[in-house]
Amino acid sequence: MQHVQDFENLIRTIPDYPKPGIMFRDITTLLADPKGLKKAIKHMAKPFEDEKVEAVAGIEARGFILGGAIADRLECGFIPIRKKGKLPWKTIGQEYTLEYGVDVIEVHEDAIAKGTRVLIVDDLIATGGTAEAAAKLVQRSGGTIVGATFIVDLPDLGGMQRLSDLGVVSHALVS
Ligand code: IMP
Repeated sequence: MQHVQDFENLIRTIPDYPKPGIMFRDITTLLADPKGLKKAIKHMAKPFEDEKVEAVAGIEARGFILGGAIADRLECGFIPIRKKGKLPWKTIGQEYTLEYGVDVIEVHEDAIAKGTRVLIVDDLIATGGTAEAAAKLVQRSGGTIVGATFIVDLPDLGGMQRLSDLGVVSHALVS
C-alpha cells in the first residue's frame, strides 16, 4: 500500500540542472512507476472531485501528461496552455517574468466558454509565475477557476501564496 508521503521517494532531485545552483525535481521517475502515477492522478484530482470541474487546463509540457489523465478521471475536457507560437488557432497570450527576461503562454481564444469551471494542472509550482499567468488566461477568457493542482510545491519560493492572493485554491502532493 502506497501512502501520499511515498511520492517524495519517487521524485528524483538533480543538482545543477538546467544550470549551476538549481536543484531540479525530476518527476519522470514518478510517471514511470505504474502505482505511483495512478496514485498521483487520484490524489491530484481528489480535492476537486465534488467541484463540478468542466475543463482541466494543463500547462505545457508535463501538465499535459497529468492534466489529460485528471480530465479523464473528472470526466471533463482538456484545454492545452502552451508556450508562444505552438497553438494553431487564434490565441490570447499572457506574459510572465522569468529569472532573466519574460516568457509568454497562450490559450486558444475560443477554448474556454464564459463561466466554464476550470482546474489548472502542472507538475510543479515554484515562484508561481507560470501558474499565475495560466490563471490570468483562464480569467481573461471568462472562465471560473475552481483551483490548481500540482505534484510538487516548493514553498520557499512562494508560488502557492501568489495563487492564494489571486483567490485561487491550490493543492500539492509534496511540499
Ligand atoms: P514557476 O513559474 O517559477 O512556478 O515554475 C514552475 C514551472 O517551471 C512549471 O511549469 C514547472 O514545470 C517548471 N519547473 C520549475 N522548476 C522545476 C523543477 O525543479 N522540476 C520540474 N519543473 C520545474
